[in-house]
Amino acid sequence: MYFKKSKFFLLSIFLIFFLSALFLCFFIYQNALEKNLNQTAFETLEELITQQKLNFNERVDADMKSIKNLANFVCYSPDNRDVMVSLGASLVQNTNFDYLLLSDQNGHAISSNGLNLDLQSRSYFQAALKGETILSQPSFSSVNNSLVISLATPIYRGEQVVGVLAAAYKLSDLSDLILPSYGGRAFAFITDREGSVIYSPNNQTLVSYQQNLFDSISKAEFIQYDTRDDMIKKTHEQRGGKSLFSVQNHKLLIQYAPLDINGWYIVMVAPESVISTQADSIAKDSTTLTGSVLALFSLLTIYTLYLQKKHSDEKLASLSELETVAYYDSLTTLPNLPKFKRDAKEILLAHPDRRYVILKFDIHNFKIINELYGFEMGNTVICAMANFISKMAKDRNLIGTLARVTADEFLILAETDDALFLQSDTLIAFDDKLHEALTHIIGAHRIECRYGRYLLDLGENDITNIVEKVNLAHRVAKDEQTKYACDYHHSFKDRALREADIENRMESALATEEFTVFLQPKYDLQTELVVGAEALVRWRESTGALLPPSEFIPLFERNGFILTLDMYVFEHVCQLLSRCMQEHRTLLPISVNFSKLHLTNLNFVKNLSKLADKYQVPKKWIEIELTESILFNNEEAFGIILHQLHSEGFTLSMDDFGTGYSSLGLLKNLPVDVLKIDKVFFSDTIYKDRGKLVLESVMQMARKLNICTVAEGVERKDDIDFLRAVGCDIVQGYYFSMPISSEEYLKKFAP
Ligand code: C2E
Ligand code: CA
Ligand code: CA
Repeated sequence: MYFKKSKFFLLSIFLIFFLSALFLCFFIYQNALEKNLNQTAFETLEELITQQKLNFNERVDADMKSIKNLANFVCYSPDNRDVMVSLGASLVQNTNFDYLLLSDQNGHAISSNGLNLDLQSRSYFQAALKGETILSQPSFSSVNNSLVISLATPIYRGEQVVGVLAAAYKLSDLSDLILPSYGGRAFAFITDREGSVIYSPNNQTLVSYQQNLFDSISKAEFIQYDTRDDMIKKTHEQRGGKSLFSVQNHKLLIQYAPLDINGWYIVMVAPESVISTQADSIAKDSTTLTGSVLALFSLLTIYTLYLQKKHSDEKLASLSELETVAYYDSLTTLPNLPKFKRDAKEILLAHPDRRYVILKFDIHNFKIINELYGFEMGNTVICAMANFISKMAKDRNLIGTLARVTADEFLILAETDDALFLQSDTLIAFDDKLHEALTHIIGAHRIECRYGRYLLDLGENDITNIVEKVNLAHRVAKDEQTKYACDYHHSFKDRALREADIENRMESALATEEFTVFLQPKYDLQTELVVGAEALVRWRESTGALLPPSEFIPLFERNGFILTLDMYVFEHVCQLLSRCMQEHRTLLPISVNFSKLHLTNLNFVKNLSKLADKYQVPKKWIEIELTESILFNNEEAFGIILHQLHSEGFTLSMDDFGTGYSSLGLLKNLPVDVLKIDKVFFSDTIYKDRGKLVLESVMQMARKLNICTVAEGVERKDDIDFLRAVGCDIVQGYYFSMPISSEEYLKKFAP
């Protein structure tokens, strides 16, 4: 009896212990699972928010730079109203803005669609008058009857602010430009540092425009991470964070980060329902079950475990739904960059013993496709390209992953066993096949890609760093117009740093006259006498080093500073010619290079004329060099400007003939005086055989059209002899002389 009793007692104790242990395990497991899933969801949000923040900042930065540069070229007064309106209208077409506003210092403004406005009371106008370039708070605009955000920058004449240039984004466009809403599952909005909403998409209910985030969550139940007070504190200190709240029984994951502009914040929110629909009910179910069916604990254990598994599967399934909308590009359905990084990292970690190569590429001059055929067609081309790449990956059983990054830019990670990505000629074949795949869409327009490539070190798996490297290689491929893949080199990183440094110093370098003009003499082939020169800019740094244009011009083309620099060089040339006249020196024409960016400026010709008149230089002594590639872009607008330049009396020169879509046919209708034949004809062996034939017919044709021919970059005697034989007029090249300083030029050739 006693024995029976004590056996029962022992059994009960064992049972109690066993059950307690079971419960404990069950709760620990459930908690861990919950935490793990939430953490993954937060990680997803964090990646997304970083991406959005980058997009936003890059966009605003680039737009700020471009309006600052534009401000150098515009000025409003009632008598140039019409010119400014049409200039504004044409500029808007090439930008992300809905309209531009140009104002004098009293706030009298015109919009690019021809409306008169008074900006005086606008705070962005007042800030810009004080010299700031700012992004405004949203406000209602009577120009387009919508809510807009404006970028505003001062217009200077010398030290003085004489007006303001402002450019407006429609708030509703912001969603396409900056903040996709991931199908309404997760969404982003922008607030100021007090939490007031500046932009918010329509299809969500947490907070809308002009409400306050912190008010909206004041009644919310805090669950985990940052409390409302933490959030307020952190936003004041411009820090980011995350939080889990329950609002009206809906759990919300909130991730927020400062935007680095105006103290604004980007906030991303995902309803937790996206990852757990039955989070609470399962806990309840299991408690009731455990309580009531104590005796059937073994059954319960099995059932609970089964429920757990089912539940976690469901959670994972809905988490993957969030991932689908967050990680795939909506236009092409290819993975996007965050997804690419995740997958690539996994692949690299899984097989550290294999070699991989990463490739980034885009269509060369994709902008032209958008310009010539329209935005819709641009999208169709991107989709066709995405299909082509996916199919190729499938056909080749790609061991790796791929993504669309932005616009026409794609990334591929592949094992190096796949020779396609390692050899130049196979990349050319890739181009050919892509071109073929797209011909039914855009006909004969030749599709060519620019490739950046990076061969990973064995075991390398820092994917952010790897993508950064291939980005740099791609950037170089684009700048240097390399036809084949440009491979990453560690010097590119230095170069990126150097570029940032150049951007920081360029304005002050201009002010302190660090830019200087070199001249390269041109020789008549018959007489071998100097008949003119080309102005080529150099940057003499404060250290004394002399930088060639290849170091800074591609960058200035991207950031718009070239507009300012070209005018500076032009003014120097005017001064030089004026000095020759005053000092009764030999007067020879000088040519000046102009970037194609000037062509969007309707005042371009007028500005040049004004400067030439200021120095009283007859315009026939000045030759304007424009590169041939712009012809293809915009033949009509280009034609108009060429005719204007010509009727002002400038000599016109078509630069770099032979590097682009060379078309002598197009030249027939344009008032071109000089054709500059590019050095590729004399330097590149590919051109050597075919080049001679082409050159001969170019010379014949030019003679018929009465166009003077200048061969550039000629270094060898046999090329000189050949050029003379086929009737080339002038040669500019190292064979005769390198570019030399203006002073040396005056001494030698204009005594
Ligand atoms: P470009 O207009 O085609 O100028 C000719 C380039 O060829 C110059 O390079 C010149 O130094 C180089 N060159 C001349 N003869 C020879 C030769 O025999 N052999 C070789 N290998 N090269 C020769 P540079 O001065 O480095 O200028 C490079 C490019 O930078 C120019 O090409 C032009 O597109 C641009 N650039 C230079 N100055 C300006 C400027 O003030 N404004 C703008 N927008 N672009 C400029
Ligand atoms: Ca040139
Ligand atoms: Ca040239």
